[in-house]
This record gives sequence, structure tokens and C-alpha cells, in this order.
Amino acid sequence: MTRHFFYEENVIYWINKIIHKRGYNMKQEFAVIGLGRFGGSICRELSMEGMNVLAIDRDEDKINEFKNIATYAVIADATDEMTLKELGVNNIDHVIVAIGDNIQASILTTVILTELDIKKITVKAQNDYHEKILRKIGANQVVHPERDMGKRIAHSIISSNILDYLEVSDEHSIVEVKVSRKMAGQTLIDLDIRANYGCNVVAIKQGQHINVSPSAEDILETDDILIVIGSDKDISHFEKELVIDQ
Ligand code: ATP
Repeated sequence: MTRHFFYEENVIYWINKIIHKRGYNMKQEFAVIGLGRFGGSICRELSMEGMNVLAIDRDEDKINEFKNIATYAVIADATDEMTLKELGVNNIDHVIVAIGDNIQASILTTVILTELDIKKITVKAQNDYHEKILRKIGANQVVHPERDMGKRIAHSIISSNILDYLEVSDEHSIVEVKVSRKMAGQTLIDLDIRANYGCNVVAIKQGQHINVSPSAEDILETDDILIVIGSDKDISHFEKELVIDQ
């Protein structure tokens, strides 16, 4: 039988949690609003890592799917400030807003969370315009999972030597690349990646070993993996010139 969640039940649960805080101090507390593919996956991972997760969605089917995964799963409309207060969301340190398609609901929920003085608010954005508004109204972290995944896959498609690509800011990224035929047998000094491409090799992986302070004289072997940081433009130049074997 489907279990229905009543506010009194939620309030008692969260009050108990606050009163018996000692037992919860070891775990971090999160709320995930919106249990689509992205929010659902965050909720699953955080729960698997042993975190306390309050999962909120207005769709009953989603809540039924997550009631045995999250610490607590509640059917609620996140654009209703009273409801969020009643759920004790204001006592949670980090809230993830994963409402995607409904930009209006995502913005309104974020405004309410900033008014509730949540320490950290992470929001999934649909586009750059959405991100700009989210940042203006106080979201600490704005993520674009589809766009980021698209970039990572595109880079790995360009060359099998590009193993991973991670955006660190709007203009800077980190790439993990296999030492190409062009690089093999040379040292970092020979390649002079910083002077020639404006990128920095921050680490070299050799099997299980990671060298986080690579020496300029280290000879690069075919199976080595370089972790390189730089501006998107410089990384693209470095990839074209040195990483992609023709
Ligand atoms: P994904 O790509 O991650 O699957 P999406 O970008 O398509 O998700 P939506 O399906 O629009 O995002 O929303 C994700 C979830 O957010 C849905 O399960 C939806 O029920 C929930 N949701 C939307 N609006 C609200 C709201 N106001 N309050 C609570 N939950 C909401």
C-alpha cells in the first residue's frame, strides 16, 4: 500500500533529529529537491555514502521510488515557503535544487532557500540565462550536468588519448590525457608545455602511482597519464598539437 506523508509526521521526525543531534553529528545533512534523473542520482549516491538525505518531490511516484533510499522522502511543492519551513529545510546545511524543466519553480525555490539562510545551495541550471539569475539570487553553486557531460564525451570522442575533461570554472578546465606518440620519450622541459601552450602539468599518473610534483626532467612513457590544467583555449591548442596522434 502506498504510504502517505503528513506534515505532522515530518515535523516530529525533524524535531527528533534536531533534539538528538549528537547521533547525527557524524553525518552531513542534505536535502535534494526534484528527483528526476539528476536529483535522483545525487540522492542515491549521498545515501549510499551514508549521508542523511531529505528527498522532496511533488510527484508521489517519485517519492515512493525513493522512500527506501533517502533518509526521509516527502511529497511537497518546493515553491511553498511554509512547507519548506515545516519540513525543517532551514536546519539543513546543503540543499540541492534539481528541478530542471520548470525554470520558474527552480528560481522561486532558490529564492526561498536563500531567504531561509541555507549555507550552501546547489542548483541545476537549464541554460546560461537561468544560471545568471540563479547566481544573482544567491545560489552558491550552479551546475549544468547535461552540458558538462556533453563536453566530456565530445573530448573523449575527439581522441582516445583524452581520458577525461573537467570544467573548473567558466574558462578553465582540467584534462586527463594519455601520453601520445608525439610526447613519449620526451621530458616536460623538452615539451615546454607551459611556455608553448600556457597549460600546467599538475600530476603524472604511472600505473597506481601519482606523482603530484612532476620534475621537468622526468621522461614521459607511453602508458603515463598527464593531468593538465589551463584555459579552455590553451587546452584545446595543447590537445590539437600534442595529444591527438594523427
Ligand atoms: P532530469 O533531466 O534530471 O530527469 P529534468 O531536468 O527533466 O530532470 P524535471 O523533470 O523538470 O527535470 O524535474 C525533476 C523533478 O522535479 C521531477 O520529478 C518533478 O516532479 C520535480 N519537481 C518539479 N517542480 C517541483 C516543485 N515545485 N516542487 C517539488 N518537486 C518538483
